[in-house]
Amino acid sequence: MREASTLPVTVEPAPGESGLGCLLRAARANGISLAGLLEALDLPKSPRPTREGLNALAQALDVDPAWLASSTVVACRRGGYGASEWQDRVWTCPLSLRGAHPQVCTDCLREGSPCLIDWELAGCVACLRHPRLLTDGCVHCGRRLSWWRPAIDVCACGHFLSAEPDRPVAGAELLTWIERLVARARGAAVSSSGATQRLPRWIDALSADALLAASFAFGIRREPYERITSTAAIVCPTTLQVARILERGIARILRSGELRERCPSDLGTLVYEEGLQRLWLRGSEQGDRLAAAGLLRWMGCLPRRSRASSGAGEGQQGELFDLELDFG
Ligand SMILES: [Zn+2]
Ligand SMILES: [Zn+2]
Repeated sequence: MREASTLPVTVEPAPGESGLGCLLRAARANGISLAGLLEALDLPKSPRPTREGLNALAQALDVDPAWLASSTVVACRRGGYGASEWQDRVWTCPLSLRGAHPQVCTDCLREGSPCLIDWELAGCVACLRHPRLLTDGCVHCGRRLSWWRPAIDVCACGHFLSAEPDRPVAGAELLTWIERLVARARGAAVSSSGATQRLPRWIDALSADALLAASFAFGIRREPYERITSTAAIVCPTTLQVARILERGIARILRSGELRERCPSDLGTLVYEEGLQRLWLRGSEQGDRLAAAGLLRWMGCLPRRSRASSGAGEGQQGELFDLELDFG
């Protein structure tokens, strides 16, 4: 890594801007690409810089290193598994954050908005202002967007980013769910007014990471007992695919009610148990793990013992069965 000196042109991070979006904007203002900026600093060409890399970038761009570190997804390890740090917390669901495959609202960009930090959330599939589905591919060259494009509103092929004319408008339930996700990611309290009252209250116990993981477990199957390969469960799907999974997931979550009655058998065949087991074993917060265990028991499944159950997991298991789970 080369000693960083400040670039000639610096930019101020805009309110709500993503770290990588700000880096791309700053590189552009200096007439170079983000890849060129990383190369100039002897940093690897990766959309997930290391902590040291972020410090060098913050110095080169004269932005607050703490802001940049919090606004940029950083790879880390948690319990022997790959995870991410972002917004000052650990994210263990591999689908929660977009990372290498960004999505944008082309309407927002056209109005002069920066790349918003909320767009990093894979579940934030629609813009709450416009409210069409976000765009993660180029209508001109057909490729997925990357952080190696020349400017925040220009594809690597050189065309300005634009949405397909028939880009779907998000339904009210999906928008409500996204509002919850964004509020949880910011650590804000979730208001339970208006349309949000329709979503069951058990989802309020979940972190943003677990809200996506649980909604995926409810929605990933298109038909009963559909086999989900582990690759399909971890490879970053397109924005449209995520939107379809969430729409199915939300409809099924609405059927779950407040979990007071046992899961209807037809609903049970549609929920991907493995996704909930994964959340139980690897969820980054205790509330998430307990909620996953409660959902498994509601479905009539036993939460699986972790391989490390002879150690720390034992306590967790004991804790689970001693606790009266309250989802009300
Ligand atoms: Zn927008
Ligand atoms: Zn293109």
